[in-house]
Amino acid sequence: MLKELAKEMRKKISELGADVPQKEIEAKLDLLVNQYRVPEEEARRTVFNQYVRDLKLQRAPAGGGDSPLTKIKDITSDGKWISLKAKVVQLWENEKASIAQAGLLGDDTGTIKFVVWTKSDLPPVEEGKSYIFKNLVTDSWQGRFSVKMNKTTTIVPAEDVEVASNDTEMTGAVVDVQSGSGLVKRCPECNRILVKGACVDHGKQEGEYDLRIKAVIDDGRTAQDIILNQEMTYKVTGIDIKVAKKMAMDAVDPAVVYDEIKRILLGKYFTVKGPVLGSRYLLVKDMQPARAQLDLNTAVKKVEGI
Ligand SMILES: [Zn+2]
Repeated sequence: MLKELAKEMRKKISELGADVPQKEIEAKLDLLVNQYRVPEEEARRTVFNQYVRDLKLQRAPAGGGDSPLTKIKDITSDGKWISLKAKVVQLWENEKASIAQAGLLGDDTGTIKFVVWTKSDLPPVEEGKSYIFKNLVTDSWQGRFSVKMNKTTTIVPAEDVEVASNDTEMTGAVVDVQSGSGLVKRCPECNRILVKGACVDHGKQEGEYDLRIKAVIDDGRTAQDIILNQEMTYKVTGIDIKVAKKMAMDAVDPAVVYDEIKRILLGKYFTVKGPVLGSRYLLVKDMQPARAQLDLNTAVKKVEGI
């Protein structure tokens, strides 16, 4: 009988994302029931609650149904079970084996960071696609909220969700083009950038070529990290995958693409526009050459007292 109880509890705990040996649960139940003469139901509750506390498990939503559909702007406390209808605005590179995917979700009220634990065994989501995410747990760190997906979470494809525009515009000089820009290879399984031909999760991979730029633009007051995807890289530099591959092959060195991008961008003025994601990167949606006269304009306005 206790064995049956222990088996059931092990399953329940595993649904919350933790693995506990059945023998250990059985021993705890046995101690309470057979030595301390605690009624079975009470023993079951006590042991389960102890695991929830000790393992910091998130209890399944009350009532067993799906947690309430919430808007991103209404996420104001952590440890809550919610559901979201949202678009995957961006997937981030992540090197942690415990995290399957991380990035940003957006709806018509805002954006929020999301994390999918590897052990939750969820199907991967795609950038630009919309889903109904049922049963997520809210979390916060240093005042910023995020949502975590776990074994209780389900992900169902949904019609396109409109994401609130939070574009930032800024004009300044490109003061740095970071290494890792140019021709890169991504893991076909998880989209991470391969380092020396290997993915942290999936090992050695042939990989798929991609082009991207990570740079810093400075308007004299702030330095802003910016990211350009393959399409934007082409629009701004004229280099597409085909050209980049040829450049790399001719030089027998993929770093020539990085060097060329630096030559084109460094020290030049641009107006960039796009959402600032994850509070750090401005994802460039539009980038136009600008004249370096901003400071002069500001100075004139100051003199004129405008
Ligand atoms: Zn991978």
